[in-house]
Amino acid sequence: MNHKKSLIGSSIAFMIATSCCWLPALIVAIGGGSALLGFSQGLEKFSGLFILMGLMFLGYGLYQYKKKNAVPVAILQSRITCPECGHAKLETMPTDACQYFYECTNCKVVLKPTGNDCCVYCSYGTVACPPIQLDQACC
Ligand SMILES: [Zn+2]
Repeated sequence: MNHKKSLIGSSIAFMIATSCCWLPALIVAIGGGSALLGFSQGLEKFSGLFILMGLMFLGYGLYQYKKKNAVPVAILQSRITCPECGHAKLETMPTDACQYFYECTNCKVVLKPTGNDCCVYCSYGTVACPPIQLDQACC
């Protein structure tokens, strides 16, 4: 009798001690399985949304990257050489407007564009003005 009681007692103790292993399995097996399935399906819906969001962010990032790279950068420094005295000076060109007149810092002669040139940098500079560089309509 005593022996049997202790056997049952130890069996219960064993069951409780190992409940952490079989209890989740039991819950999954009983009804919980369907609930878990529903939960995973819900997650799948969300994961689809996350993938969509991720793709959108990726697309946006690529768009920004392309946009950044697509913007051509014009050289703004041009060495303008005076045809009168041969004096050369490195000047920074304006990006929003063309410079039609340029006064030589050495001989004070006022330079004007030659031919069909839009600005003094196109005529006397080493680098054409930014609108010409970027193939844009000039003023
Ligand atoms: Zn000059």
